[in-house]
Amino acid sequence: MSSTSYRCKGCGATLETKDDLTRQQGITRSSWFCRYCMTAVPGVVGEKLKHRR
Ligand SMILES: [Zn+2]
Repeated sequence: MSSTSYRCKGCGATLETKDDLTRQQGITRSSWFCRYCMTAVPGVVGEKLKHRR
């Protein structure tokens, strides 16, 4: 199985679920941030992790 995880560039945390992310609703799209250090996470990653439970 392939796992979808992302290593935060800011704090090095492994972000695996949407619970590890903070979402900020923008005008046209949502922005995703690491919940631990608020470093921006690529939108593609956020969209993938959003569907995980
Ligand atoms: Zn982080």
